[in-house]
Parts: sequence; C-alpha cells; structure tokens
Amino acid sequence: MLCAICGREGRAFCWVSPPRTGIKRRFKRFCSMRCQTLYAKRLRAGGGVMIDPTRNEKSAMEAVLPHLGEYVASVGMDKPLSAYRREEILQMVDVVLTAYFDNLRELTPGDVPF
Ligand SMILES: [Zn+2]
Repeated sequence: MLCAICGREGRAFCWVSPPRTGIKRRFKRFCSMRCQTLYAKRLRAGGGVMIDPTRNEKSAMEAVLPHLGEYVASVGMDKPLSAYRREEILQMVDVVLTAYFDNLRELTPGDVPF
C-alpha cells in the first residue's frame, strides 16, 4: 500500500479511523512519521475530512517552481515535453516531488502527534 501523503511505498506507519456503528473504518499507510504527522494535521484542519490543499501545501507547490525551472533549463528550454526521454521525465518527477515534500516538511517542523 502506498503512502497516503506522498505516494511512496508505505511502511509500518498507519492510521485507522475510530470505530463507529454503520460506518466503514478507513485505513491509511505512510512511508514515514513525517507523512503520518502531515496526514493527522490535515485531517484535524479539515474537521476529519481531507479536502482542498492547505496553505502549506499551496506554498510547497509554489516552492517547486524554481526547482522545476532549473531542471527544465538543464534539459533545454527549447525542448518540448513530448521530446523528453523517459529518464528525463522520471528525473523531472523526482525533482518536483522532492522539492514539494522537502518544503512541506520544512513548513511543519516539530509536529509529532504522539
Ligand atoms: Zn510518505
């Protein structure tokens, strides 16, 4: 099962919704304590429902742009995305995801739910 936050391979971290009569229990797996903490924070902020991106998530999306621009420039500004090799696309995805989650983690330091 993939991490409910970043989509990486889930490990021993998880969350299970509290038992309620007539409501199916939900189960989420996470790759790390950091992602588990982010999930708990988002869940609390949304009143128990995951909805639109939070302010920190929007900020993390903005923070990706310089990294993405730098990568695209390194590949070649005139090269269309359709001409990218598979390895270049995968590297671009890695650049974006790493920058996004690094920034998101920096915005929520020290948040440990337990
Ligand atoms: Zn994760």
